[in-house]
Amino acid sequence: MALIVQKYGGTSVGSVDRIKNVARRIAKWHRAGHQVVVVVSAMSGETNRLIGLAKEIQASPDPRELDVVASTGEQVTIGLVAMAVQEEGLKAKSYTGPQVHVLTDSAFTKARILEIDEKKIRADLAAGYVVVVAGFQGADEHGNITTLGRGGSDTSAVAMAAALKADECLIYTDVDGVYTTDPRIVPEARRLTTVTFEEMLEMASLGSKVLQIRSVEFAGKYKVRLRVLSSLTGADLPLAEEAQSGTLITFEEDTPMEKAVISGIAFSRDEAKITLTRVPDRPGIAYQILGAIADANIDVDMIVQNISVDGTTDFSFTVHRNEYGKAMQVLQSTVQPVIQARQIIGDPMICKVSVVGIGMRSHVGIASLMFRTLSEEGINIQMITTSEIKISVVVEDKYMELAVRALHKAFGLEQAAA
Ligand code: ASP
Ligand code: MG
Repeated sequence: MALIVQKYGGTSVGSVDRIKNVARRIAKWHRAGHQVVVVVSAMSGETNRLIGLAKEIQASPDPRELDVVASTGEQVTIGLVAMAVQEEGLKAKSYTGPQVHVLTDSAFTKARILEIDEKKIRADLAAGYVVVVAGFQGADEHGNITTLGRGGSDTSAVAMAAALKADECLIYTDVDGVYTTDPRIVPEARRLTTVTFEEMLEMASLGSKVLQIRSVEFAGKYKVRLRVLSSLTGADLPLAEEAQSGTLITFEEDTPMEKAVISGIAFSRDEAKITLTRVPDRPGIAYQILGAIADANIDVDMIVQNISVDGTTDFSFTVHRNEYGKAMQVLQSTVQPVIQARQIIGDPMICKVSVVGIGMRSHVGIASLMFRTLSEEGINIQMITTSEIKISVVVEDKYMELAVRALHKAFGLEQAAA
């Protein structure tokens, strides 16, 4: 007997029929002798609708009240799912986040979970109940309702699994796992049977948005065994088969030796590059430039500074394309008068393509294969950054798909052993 946390996202509970399907799946696991805690999202579209209502009243809604409104979608789903499970002939009980003491900080609309009191849930499980808990929500120490940020029920599920020391946390979603790259760009992309947490974090932050990134960090920190799998396969799939499906997110020490060197090609569109040429090379320059950008609440991604020639250097960085205009304006108005760069050059039509894999730690030649592949396609590399398990390049936007396809092929990702 295992203790399993299952999370169903908005699409999976998007209609009454789908909820009945979810209930059949839950019943299958329960009947096989497992204890099941279910974490659910609001029905698809519901959170958007609720936020929309709030915005019809206040252009930028009061965050505390917005959370009161936005958290209600999940309360509907837990009740419906519990009823559907009861209709399967099982005992089921639903709880909102605050009812099971999902304690968070007070950062409304993006709160962090601090603690969960799992005692009540354990008692219910021991009494044979399926327990259904609302994702995305909690309460702070004063009892104010909070939400965890969009997509936050992934994090609720992982936190619940950590608190209960669950054997596995299954995230049911509308894709059947994590892929070597986006199959819409490379039809030969392959589902990974395993991927490590570190790789998953790199891939998620690079735009492969299968899971809320915070949930992956949480799972890594608390060593939660996490699996992403499809909720669209038949609920009657034999349990043994379902339990092995999807993608298991592993810890490096559990990773098979023969794992491919590279796990995937990630990319993010919608980036913009800014270069300040001939800035004086003296202490405090990077701070003056990026401090002003940070004060304007703009996230910076890649940063490259050249060596200095004649006491000046070139300084480049990337931001999200939506923030490009704002960043340029901050530079012109507050930074330029102080540092007097020769020029501020911006390019909002770039993208980032990355090769990700923990095998990079122990294999040489990854960077050279990457650069050779891009050169053979005639794609110019504008910036390069690396981490221990990732190499990223900035290229012109129009080459993104070509670069992803060529790299996917060059690294043999269609056929590599997973
Ligand atoms: N219902 C929330 C949202 O739409 C949380 C979630 O789905 O994970 O963002
Ligand atoms: Mg989601």
